[in-house]
Amino acid sequence: MAIYTCGHTTPDSDSICSAISLAYLLNSIGREAIPARQGPVSPETQFILDRFGFEAPELKTEFAGCELFITDYSDRGQAPKDLDEATVVGIVDHHKLGDIETSAPLECWIRPVGCTNTIVKEMYDYHKVEIPANIAGVMLCAILSDTVIFKSPTCTPKDIEVVKELAKIAGVEDFGALGMEMFTVKSAVNGVPVRDLILRDYKPFDMHGNAVGIGQLEVIDLAIFDGIKADLQADLDKVRVENNLHTACLILTDIMKEGSEVLVSSENPAIFESAFNCKLEDGKVWLDGCLSRKKQIIPFLQPEFAK
Ligand code: MG
Ligand code: MG
Ligand code: MG
Repeated sequence: MAIYTCGHTTPDSDSICSAISLAYLLNSIGREAIPARQGPVSPETQFILDRFGFEAPELKTEFAGCELFITDYSDRGQAPKDLDEATVVGIVDHHKLGDIETSAPLECWIRPVGCTNTIVKEMYDYHKVEIPANIAGVMLCAILSDTVIFKSPTCTPKDIEVVKELAKIAGVEDFGALGMEMFTVKSAVNGVPVRDLILRDYKPFDMHGNAVGIGQLEVIDLAIFDGIKADLQADLDKVRVENNLHTACLILTDIMKEGSEVLVSSENPAIFESAFNCKLEDGKVWLDGCLSRKKQIIPFLQPEFAK
């Protein structure tokens, strides 16, 4: 039986590129694997796939009876709905440990680095498998995306070392320029419906029994949101109500100014204000230096719900 390699719901570039890179590795060591994705491909990811000549992995949302190697998450909220009917054979991830339980022993590669593809590179090294140039290219882009071209506090020396190695293999001379090209594609939000923007990189969380949804948009200039911010805020309220969320946030990250404006819709905004020691004005606040949902938002917001 083939193993499906697949990342989280609302897949980002790391989820899709790690499904591709991990499937190639598994096939190389004699374990038949098929890359899959749980949702649509973002413009940034499409840019990466086009650049290195890949088709998008198979769209698949039901995994009952399948073997699954999870990439880039370990939270049930980001898993397929029928996860309990699948066999999880492995997890490779770089997030906080989530709440997925398995019924059989599994292989886990979980480390606090900036990107799942950094760990997949370590898996290639462990298995002594050579990385083809096009696979190295998508892995490289995923790391540049997740680490915001090394600016994110989630970035580690290992990520930088791996990017340099992958750039050589992929024949990419200026990976910084490639990263900026990628973020320019990511910054094109003109004409995109606000709901699509909120959900483009959206993650649901269970914070001590409270449903919380957090989206993030990383762009090279926050001014592009000036004309649509009020619409984003109004639709964020709708997202919260429609999904029975306690709190919905949209993180608007300016990768050049290195900070984020966070739009907040909440049953009790005081929880957010207390978590970040801030005062929301018109439901939003600028958090200087904040680039990472994983490292600079969740670890502060989640404990606040336990109080
Ligand atoms: Mg991800
Ligand atoms: Mg990732
Ligand atoms: Mg990300």
